[in-house]
This record gives sequence, structure tokens and C-alpha cells, in this order.
Amino acid sequence: MNMITNHMPTEELQALDAAHHMHPFTDANGLAKKGARIITQGKGVWLTDSRGEKIIDGMAGLWCVNIGYGRPELAEVAARQMNELAYYNTFFQTSHVPAIALAAKLAELAPGDLNHVFFAGSGSEANDTNIRLVRRYWQVKDMPEKRVIIARTNGYHGSTMGGGSLGGMSPIHAHGGKIDGIVHIGQPDWWSEGGDMTPEEFGLMRARELEEKILELGVDKVAAFIGEPIQGAGGVIIPPSTYWPEIQRIVDKYGILLIADEVITGFGRTGNWFGSQTFGIRPHIMTIAKGLSSGYQPIGGSIISDEVFNVVAEGGELYHGYTYSGHPVAAAVALENLRIIEEEGIIDHVRNVAHPYLKERWDALTDHPLVGEAKLVGLMGSIALTPNKATRAKFASEAGTVGFRCRERCFANNLIMRHVGDRMIIAPPLVIKPEEIDILITRARKSLDECYAGLK
Ligand code: PLP
Repeated sequence: MNMITNHMPTEELQALDAAHHMHPFTDANGLAKKGARIITQGKGVWLTDSRGEKIIDGMAGLWCVNIGYGRPELAEVAARQMNELAYYNTFFQTSHVPAIALAAKLAELAPGDLNHVFFAGSGSEANDTNIRLVRRYWQVKDMPEKRVIIARTNGYHGSTMGGGSLGGMSPIHAHGGKIDGIVHIGQPDWWSEGGDMTPEEFGLMRARELEEKILELGVDKVAAFIGEPIQGAGGVIIPPSTYWPEIQRIVDKYGILLIADEVITGFGRTGNWFGSQTFGIRPHIMTIAKGLSSGYQPIGGSIISDEVFNVVAEGGELYHGYTYSGHPVAAAVALENLRIIEEEGIIDHVRNVAHPYLKERWDALTDHPLVGEAKLVGLMGSIALTPNKATRAKFASEAGTVGFRCRERCFANNLIMRHVGDRMIIAPPLVIKPEEIDILITRARKSLDECYAGLK
């Protein structure tokens, strides 16, 4: 077979891709008919495809390329680390400098007493670790019956069997089932589910479902609650202001563990290092991945409180770990990524560019006939598409069709925005500049116009 390179005709690359590459979250037959869009280069917030089109990436890849594409420092660190020590494990009482340095840095950045890091290769793996950790915690405390984890409908915590079970997405559960001991309560999505309540009333109501669930199951059965500070894959659901304080009150009252899944909200996305700081959440465990390395290397982990760590440590060996836990190249790259975020003031940049610059332009999209609600925290936003803004109605056509069409128009207009049902969402690289925000908004508006024209 000839060498496969960027210089091959797009159609040939697409045919080989469809023939041999099985894609995640993709209808393989649909892909074979249409052909994948093949991305060849990235710089800052811009991608180039195999036909030479320049695309503005409103999603930072999969919410992960926080520092933007093409930073040579990360490539240099990776090459240096590969030459020095390409791999060694962290099992059985061995360690290495990149894992030590990254764990120490994360303990410094994370709030409160979150001082211990268990590394994984991804966010899904880290959430699998969390299931084991919280159940082990109660086992060591001599309460092995406390093993149920309460999560939320339409939450997303990854797609391994553990992560997919914590997530509350029925299509994922339908493909292969769900592990035991995980139950779901409602999500704080006021736009879709709040009815006649005010957002604040609805936020309280949804948080109190946690208390009801704990009482229904018995507190002696409940190990932990897990939630994303802002649901990302569920459609950038920004909870009403009453939601997290009430969740925190309930978790404190019943003494169950709180896991904040910061895979998207971590590392600057919401204008603080962690979404927990933005929403005043005090978790016992934080799940991290994505922005930890800005996607330059696959790495995730759990940042664990002194309390949870000490109890689990008291129990002796934890029978759990991954070959690539704390991989030296991934850890070195992540550390360099954190250095860049810190030294370049990228989190201040998020605050400055998000409010008011992006927020004003984002909110202004509600003057479009299709857009009912626009929400944004930091550089994470969503717009809800509706045929009737006053009643927050859904489209009569199959759910998500209009969002899908709008996403297709964005794609054709060289803007990557994702749709979740009839919500359109953005989470651009954190380094996006005001003039790039203007381009993003102009292309989004054009795409909305084209989508609207197509509905009539
Ligand atoms: N948790 C959250 C909140 C996520 O958004 C994701 C991925 O989108 C995950 C976990 C899973 O991470 P990964 O895809 O790295 O396994």
C-alpha cells in the first residue's frame, strides 16, 4: 500500500477511513456515504482541513484544547521526555519526576484539601476510579453497604461501562447496559423542564430530589453524589443559582461524598481554575482530563481530599490502576500546559474576553427568530432553538432535527459548533481573541439564518 499522507486526495482518505477506521459516537454507514471531514492542521483557534478550508473551532476539539492548537513548547517537552524516559509505571512503589511534579502542581492549584492525585488516561477512566474509590472509602470505614452513587439524568461522565453508567444518557445505557448501584435524579435544565417555575424555584426543586433520593434509599446505602458543575455534553446546562448551594447543603447534612466532574469545567473554562470555585462547590473528589493537557496528550485523573485519601490508605493496597497512570510524557506535557495557562494569564483572559465581550454578542443572538435563550459562563455557552420563545416550545419535528440542521450549516460555513438536541453550544479554545469572537458570531448568525430559511 502507498504511504498515506496529507497530500492524498480527500476522497481516497475518506474511503480508507470509512473502510478501516471505526469512529466513536458515529453512524458508520452514514459516515461511509458522506465521508469524514479530514482535519490536517491546527493553530490557535483555527483548523485546516484536507481541502485547505480554514475552520474556526468553536468547540476546542472536544472541549479540550484550552491553550489552542500548535504550541511548540508542548511538542518540545514531549520530545525531551521521550528521549529521557519514554515510559515507566507508577505501580508497586516506583515513581518518576513528571508524575511527582504534576501531582504536586495539581495539589497546589486545587481548592481546599484536595491534595492527592490518582492518574488515569482519560476522564472516563478517572470516573471508573472514582466509583472504586468511594465504595472502597465506605468499606474501609466499615460501612460496605454504602455503595450507591447518585448521578443526574442527561449528565455525562464518559463512555466506559463505569463512566457511561454514571452518565444519565439512555442511548448509552441502551448499548450494553449499566453497572449496578447507580441511580439518577433530574437535571437542573430550567429551559426544557422548568415549566411555570422560576429558574430559582426549579433549581431548588431539582437539588431537593437528591435529598428525596437519599431518604428513599436510606442514607446507609448512599456512597456519593456526582455532577458536572455545568453539564457539558448534555447541552451546556448552566444550573440556576440556587442549585449548587442546595446540593452542597444536602451532601453536608447527610455526610455523603461529593464528586465534581471537572473534565470540561476544569483548567480555566469557567473563568477560574475549576468550576467548583465558580459555583462554590466543595467536592471530596474532582475528576479531571481534557484541559489538563489541552488535549496534547491523553491524560486524566482524580484529585482526592485528605479525608478520602487517608481512609483509603488506611485500608492497605488499592487494587486498581492503569498501565498509563501518570505516564511520564503525558504528565510532562500537562505540566507544561499548566505553566502556560498560569504564566500567560489565560484564566484572566477568559474572564476579560467572556464578560462582557462574548457575553454581549452571545446574548444578542436572542434577537434571532430561532433563538429562545442564550446562556454563558466563562467560555462555555449554549443557545436554545425554539419555535416559540414565550412558551419555550419544542419543534414539532423529531427532537434535535433543527439543531442538527443548524450544526450542518455551521460546518458548511467553517464554524465548528455542536448541537445537543435543539441546543447549539460553544466552548472555544480559551485563547480566543475578540476579533475571532466576531468571526465566530458572524458565522453563527449566518448559519442560524440559513437554518431558519430552510424551515419555511
Ligand atoms: N466527564 C465529562 C464531564 C466529560 O465531558 C467527558 C468527556 O466529554 C468525560 C467525563 C469523559 O472523558 P473522556 O472522553 O476523556 O473519557
